[in-house]
Amino acid sequence: MIPYGRQDISEDDVRAVVDVLHSDWLTQGPAIERFEQAVARFCGSTYAVAVANATAGLHIACLAAGLGEGDAFWTSPNTFLASANCGVYCGATPGFVDVDAGTLNMDPAALEQRLVQARAARCVPKIVIPVHFGGQSCDMEPIARLAREYGFTVIEDASHAIGGQYRGRRVGSCEYSDMTVFSFHPVKIITSGEGGIVLTNRKDLYDKLVLLRSHGMTREAARMQGTSEGPWYYEQVALGFNYRLTDMQAALGLSQLQRTDHFVARRTELAQRYGELLRNVPVRTQACIAEAVSAWHLYVVQLAVGKSLRSRREVFEELRARDVGVNVHYIPVHLQPYYRRYGFAAGDFPVAEAYYAAALTLPLYPGLSDTQQESIVAHLRELLT
Ligand SMILES: *Cc1c(COP(=O)(O)O)cnc(C)c1O
Repeated sequence: MIPYGRQDISEDDVRAVVDVLHSDWLTQGPAIERFEQAVARFCGSTYAVAVANATAGLHIACLAAGLGEGDAFWTSPNTFLASANCGVYCGATPGFVDVDAGTLNMDPAALEQRLVQARAARCVPKIVIPVHFGGQSCDMEPIARLAREYGFTVIEDASHAIGGQYRGRRVGSCEYSDMTVFSFHPVKIITSGEGGIVLTNRKDLYDKLVLLRSHGMTREAARMQGTSEGPWYYEQVALGFNYRLTDMQAALGLSQLQRTDHFVARRTELAQRYGELLRNVPVRTQACIAEAVSAWHLYVVQLAVGKSLRSRREVFEELRARDVGVNVHYIPVHLQPYYRRYGFAAGDFPVAEAYYAAALTLPLYPGLSDTQQESIVAHLRELLT
């Protein structure tokens, strides 16, 4: 079976992990600091906080921004559950902003329209979480302008997008946001096994993220409410978690980071080839905006639902039967049974719903060969024409 995504592990990666196993540190130690500094330098942000996974990173990013009960936050319906769960963990009320039919990213015009209504109803969200779907940055400049006008915090869910760019800077520079979160799950652009990181240029947020990552405890005298009782002394000054990454994971992540541009170059090449190979196949591909350079985490197409010979489900099952590991990203989050409790229903976000009804994710990862790709498209062409 050709999977839809797959990690690429080199001998250097293996050596980096083994070196840590031979060292004095296994959990958060010197490799974490090296990894954090390297990711921050790579992306052009000031600070970085490595965490157990991107879900944990999104959670403490929401808490650091002060999200709590009685607050609202908005994200895209076309995303993985974690982009919405993170705010619900904080006791806040979720909302969604529909996507653009071409880019499949949060539509800044729809965001503005909803904000105008929310201001009138006095329920402007505290946080907006744009998601860089498939690795292509959302159009962040208008979102940042709305953030200034309406006073919300912007957290980029860039789980798909390390190595991507927006307006000439790397995703993660936080030029148009308060914080950016990456995932290092094995199907993403680079991996640390499980893992994530939060980037920011704001010292106040960085300090909170560090506290929340590890139980809300500090050994820094300056951050204590009382005075130190001795070298053993620590204080818990917030309710934090154990969201730490291990040194083995950080060493793997750091080793993988060196090849980010190489991975993205191969993904881009494959995505361009898909574009050419699919020219005479009746599918719609994701639109690209001039301001962004995608990291190409996903290659998604939309079938001509109702007009093609076979349904999406038939095409999906037939491709799987032929060992092509297609997938579907994403079931709109507001349609999940858990989210229906907030009153969401089918029809609320019609663009994301129409996209989902037709969506198919084709395999895309650096190790996918040109020949495998050609056979994937040949199968698809045969099923659709
Ligand atoms: C993978 C993913 C996450 C969660 O990442 P983890 O590291 O697995 O917690 C969050 N948001 C999006 C959009 C993702 O694709």
